Amino acid sequence: MKKIQLIGLLSIISFLGFAQDMDYTRKIINELCSEKYFGRGYVNNGDSIAACFLEKEFDKIGLEKFSESYYQEYTTDINRFAAMPIFGFDDSLLIPAKDFIVIPSSPEIDGNFKIEWITKTTLTNQWVLRHFLSDDHSENFICIDSTALNNPELYNFANTIFAKNYINAKGVIEGSSRLKYTARTKINSYVNVQIKPELVNNKADSVYLKIENDFVKDYKTRNIVGYIKGKSDSIVFIGGHYDHLGMMGDIMYPGANDNASGVAMVLSIADYYSKGKKPEYTMVFALFSGEEAGLLGSEFMAENPPFELSKVKVMFNFDMVGTGDGGVYMFNAKEYPEIDSLIIDMNKNNEYFVELTTTGPTWSSDHASFYDKGVDAVFVCTHGDNSNYHQPSDIPQDLNLFAYEDIYRFVIDFVKKF
Ligand SMILES: [Zn+2]
Repeated sequence: MKKIQLIGLLSIISFLGFAQDMDYTRKIINELCSEKYFGRGYVNNGDSIAACFLEKEFDKIGLEKFSESYYQEYTTDINRFAAMPIFGFDDSLLIPAKDFIVIPSSPEIDGNFKIEWITKTTLTNQWVLRHFLSDDHSENFICIDSTALNNPELYNFANTIFAKNYINAKGVIEGSSRLKYTARTKINSYVNVQIKPELVNNKADSVYLKIENDFVKDYKTRNIVGYIKGKSDSIVFIGGHYDHLGMMGDIMYPGANDNASGVAMVLSIADYYSKGKKPEYTMVFALFSGEEAGLLGSEFMAENPPFELSKVKVMFNFDMVGTGDGGVYMFNAKEYPEIDSLIIDMNKNNEYFVELTTTGPTWSSDHASFYDKGVDAVFVCTHGDNSNYHQPSDIPQDLNLFAYEDIYRFVIDFVKKF
């Protein structure tokens, strides 16, 4: 009896030793989403402030550096909106981020502009369409009349075609039920506004806009990278991006799921390997900037790696791992039969995830920069309530972290078995 109790106690202790420290995870996510980081974007240099915090975390964990610093600096052009954009049909203004967003490739603008409506007739009557395509729209905004185009296919077709502004309008107003803010490194010649389709006022003759942009050339940003020397110089590479969308005027995009959750995972795994005995593989940990503006940081690191990419046995990239009640996805895994079958075998009997999907290649996150260089790179992402994607409502309180501990346990076990 006593022996059984002892074994029970030991297994609890060893389980606790292995279990993820969820207080640490929550602390990191809350910290990164707090106001002092301005959404880890470009307004008020939020990404740089976050880098400073994360560099200290790397140091606390005790990671080694490839150079004098954990930083790997590079520059990019970036367009940012430090002032709140204003938009309205005729005189009635809409609410930024909730009713509309301005795509940050837009130039500055201030004034009233005539609206040209694209109706069903515009698209289906050849004569009208031909005129519409050849007319001069350079002082007008074009907008799709969503009530007239009550055919969703036609509406989507028009939205796709006219969102690119092939007709050289002053600006384009797109209807979009999910307003997804983003980050852009270039300015277009026209203004691009996305608005909730139900708020499109078909009766309006004009729009009022005031957008003040601030285009910064050669904005300095940085990746953060460190490592733990293993018995072998073969590398297991763990990464995720720490940047997010920053601010649109006064509105902050905290990016709890995208990707404070992934940063916490990278730090948690780094912390695990820093505490045990020397790992089998050399473990490299990287936090990328510039992901939301187009995988900038990971591309820079893939072009200028501080370690030999050919030594990387596998890379795990974590981007949006704060849910999981809708399953866990390991993108790219199917590209590598050995990795894919190990993942699937390990999860037999739902040992880690009730729902696990492995897929072929995607290019939607930082793993892609390394995948394109021939590195075996897997992108781990959780599904669940992802309706807050690129919204100001992507906040820590709403993350259930359903699969978080299982992913942590899985990666550590995977590296042991690999
Ligand atoms: Zn992301």
